[in-house]
Amino acid sequence: MSNEPYKPSGLHVDSLLAHAGGGSDPTTGAVVPPIQTATTFVRDEDYELINPGHLYSRDDNALFHKTERLLASLEEGADSRLFASGMAAVAAVVRIVKPGGTILAQSGIYWGTTIFLRKHCARNNIALVEADASELQAFQDEISVTQPDLVWLEVPSNPYLKLADIPSISARCKQAGALLAVDATAATPLIMKPLTMGADLVMHSATKALNGHSDLLGGVVTTKDASNEAWAFICEERKNAGAVLGSFETWLLLRGLRTLSLRLERMNSNALAVANFLERHPKIEAVLYPGIASHPQHELAKSLMTGGFGYLMSILVKGGKTKALKITGALDVFQRATSLGGTESLVEHRYTIEGETSGIPVDLLRLSIGIEHGEDLIADLDQALASG
Ligand code: PLP
Repeated sequence: MSNEPYKPSGLHVDSLLAHAGGGSDPTTGAVVPPIQTATTFVRDEDYELINPGHLYSRDDNALFHKTERLLASLEEGADSRLFASGMAAVAAVVRIVKPGGTILAQSGIYWGTTIFLRKHCARNNIALVEADASELQAFQDEISVTQPDLVWLEVPSNPYLKLADIPSISARCKQAGALLAVDATAATPLIMKPLTMGADLVMHSATKALNGHSDLLGGVVTTKDASNEAWAFICEERKNAGAVLGSFETWLLLRGLRTLSLRLERMNSNALAVANFLERHPKIEAVLYPGIASHPQHELAKSLMTGGFGYLMSILVKGGKTKALKITGALDVFQRATSLGGTESLVEHRYTIEGETSGIPVDLLRLSIGIEHGEDLIADLDQALASG
């Protein structure tokens, strides 16, 4: 089965998305693709596959291909692979590095990734170095000194919304012979395309804005070069280790993608309005959002995030943990739940999830901004801050 990125000439990305990566089903003319639930595919009398590429659905599935081709096209990459969750996608990339190797990872990223990296590296005799990638010179020096096999960035980072200068870091990775992978979950490919900035691999938790409806777990890795060893390993690993996305989830993801650009337009504008409101509020200590001028890397954000500044932000509230929890408890429109990127706005007290060891501030609240009317979100925050 061809896994070439879907690239009809002259169409805007919104149009590719609206058509879910291709026109009608060739056999029926259906405008929505069928869910392929079969796990296995018959052979003819000569033991040839009836449809080459359709052998067993852990290896191949027409819906995976359609979705992967669309995602590769959004990233301006060469090929994509879907995984059973964002963490399964992280793990497939990290496992490229063999015992005795070195990983340099950005510090202060999604806690689940940090925990996985620490445990995986400790168990497999892999040296793990964690460093702040927003300090460009120091991070580049770290690449030169540690000569890592893999550099792992998360841009923007969750929950600190820090940026890393992907083009400059990628140049140093090339000199050092390191592979550069970027988790761009909080951006999405409509906002930022790391592969066009020199990254080798880009990864997303499709659980978040790509699907956007908080109703599936999924992950995706896209490569710039489909002919290198790293990509061959990732594809083989997906098939042999079997962390594949279910057919129904793939179908749901493709459906979610149809509205990605519309959802992001609203999320971007809501998030900016919320950030501007919160920044002026006397009960807020700081707003961490790359779209506002007070963000220390706002200029870098403007150069990396060309499709808006995204839906994720964190705030530090005055009055510590008690006040943070009180404000959270008083919110009505924002739902108190973990995760991000859904149509509904969520608030989370990360300290409650991560505990003390991660170093997360007790007064930090992470907000995932949804597609509600922006005025409702601001009014909800206003009343919660007044009561807190
Ligand atoms: N990367 C980032 C930035 C995330 O925020 C998350 C989950 O919150 C993941 C990866 C893991 O994704 P999943 O929950 O789909 O396994």
